[in-house]
Amino acid sequence: MPQVNLLGHQSWAGKTGNLLKVYPQFDETPLVKMPEKYVWPNTDGLYCKSYCPLNPDVHSIVFDLIDEICDVFETDAFHAGMDEVFYIGEAQCPRCSGRDKAELFAGEVRTIHDHLAMKGRKLWIWGDRLIDGKTTGIGEWEASYNNTFRAVDMIPKDVIICDWHYDRPDQTPVYFAMKGLSVITCPWRNPGYAVLQVRDMFRFRNSSTPEMKDRYLGMVQTIWSGAGQFLDNYYGRKPENSENSQVSCFKALFGEIQKTYFNPNR
Ligand SMILES: [Zn+2]
Repeated sequence: MPQVNLLGHQSWAGKTGNLLKVYPQFDETPLVKMPEKYVWPNTDGLYCKSYCPLNPDVHSIVFDLIDEICDVFETDAFHAGMDEVFYIGEAQCPRCSGRDKAELFAGEVRTIHDHLAMKGRKLWIWGDRLIDGKTTGIGEWEASYNNTFRAVDMIPKDVIICDWHYDRPDQTPVYFAMKGLSVITCPWRNPGYAVLQVRDMFRFRNSSTPEMKDRYLGMVQTIWSGAGQFLDNYYGRKPENSENSQVSCFKALFGEIQKTYFNPNR
């Protein structure tokens, strides 16, 4: 199933993504200029650009992209990204300024969800904007510092949550399941955490009420290189020797699933 980053992640470091390059009028923060040399932190609080979810023209473009890529992949599901949205409801946006950021986020999730639903397709998104970063201590990357987290109670319940945690094996799947949302745990490059996350996933399923059990959908290994590099590492064409790597995480993850799932005494 394909993924296109929507809402946030419309730029990376000093480079603007194609949507805002072609349609600069969709930029939520037109006053923030892309730096020659990107550094974090910076005075603009620029991590990635966002598009304005209330721009009246943005969805006709975005929906064409979604439809085309879903048709080509012949898929009944689409991943919209929507992670790490730092710019939302910004004061410099004439449409969004002063609005509730959770409502803006939830509104965009619902808009994309409803479009996909018309063709029988499901929406998957990353979970970080739906977690309260301060209260939980999970921070401003794997969770939200900009008050988007209340959207967890406002989005359709059949949106699939990809709950990525790379720095700690946080037990947030329980939170999503209790909100009525189905959830997938996503590790990256820490094999020790991936093993714990697999065990948690089995434990959550085994210890839940019948109502919640099936909301724990399982695991997805995330990789943040190209697929080619991952496969080269995996097959040893370009060995990756560090202890914490995408490949070692993937192998530990599947090893643990096999050990647990195929254990006759389970
Ligand atoms: Zn806006």
